[in-house]
Parts: sequence; C-alpha cells; structure tokens
Amino acid sequence: MPANAVDRKAMEARARVYAASKGAPFSPMRQRVLTLLGTSDKPLTAYEIAGGISDKRKVHGIEVYRALEFLQEAGCIHRLASRSSYFACDHLHGEGEAVVFMVCQECGAVHEMGSELVTRGLKGAAKTMGFKAAHSIVEVEGECAKCATAHPI
Ligand SMILES: [Zn+2]
Ligand SMILES: [Zn+2]
Repeated sequence: MPANAVDRKAMEARARVYAASKGAPFSPMRQRVLTLLGTSDKPLTAYEIAGGISDKRKVHGIEVYRALEFLQEAGCIHRLASRSSYFACDHLHGEGEAVVFMVCQECGAVHEMGSELVTRGLKGAAKTMGFKAAHSIVEVEGECAKCATAHPI
C-alpha cells in the first residue's frame, strides 16, 4: 500500500461521486473513517477505527461498520479477510480483475497489486472447475522488503 502514497483526494472524490449516485450523503462519519484509513500505515480493525475517531463522543461499532460498508461499495477501501481489518485503496480496479494483497507478518503492512498473470491464472483454474469467478482476492502472508532488509538471515 504504503499509506502515505495513497491519493486521499482521489479517494474522497470517488466516495463523493458514489454517494451522489446513490442519493446518499458523504457524511462526516464516512469522511473521518476514510481519512483515518488513508493516513494509517497498516490495516485497522473496526474496533481500532472506532477508537481512532472517538473524541468527546464515543463512536459505536455499528456506525463504523455502516461507514465501512459504504466505503467498500464506493471502492475506496478493502477488507482484509484474514485479519478482519480494512485499508484504503486509491486504485481503480477493473471488472473481474484479481487483486493480490501481500501482508507482512512482521510489521502488518499490506502491499497491494493487480496482476494480469494472476487474473488469467485464476480464471483458467476456475474454468476447469466450471466455476464462474466474480471477484478474486488473494492474500499472501510473508515478509515485506523493508522488514527483510531489517532482519537479514
Ligand atoms: Zn485496491
Ligand atoms: Zn514488514
């Protein structure tokens, strides 16, 4: 991902366009959740997000989940299934494009990439099983380049 490389303006613009298309407001809650995820250098759980945006008023989990659902539909964030956490994404993913998340077990950072090769490979594999794939998300656990440099074997 690296979070600081995420284009937050582009993400916010996308969220606004999506909200307008649904006739829904881009509420302050949605905006705060997106800003928090856009500035985080690793994925956050809903619980961590609630803690991160609570100020005088305690933010409830249900509000965070609703905002996350909206942002996911708008294509601004991804859910990391293996860790039940969320992170910002400023890519424009193509229809049916496979997305690969590389999750560092050391520092928790997620690096995201789209891959033609993986998309084709998965489509081919699904086809041999008579399975029609709609969305493909591949999560790969390991060690990121930064951590590998910090701990040479
Ligand atoms: Zn993405
Ligand atoms: Zn790492």
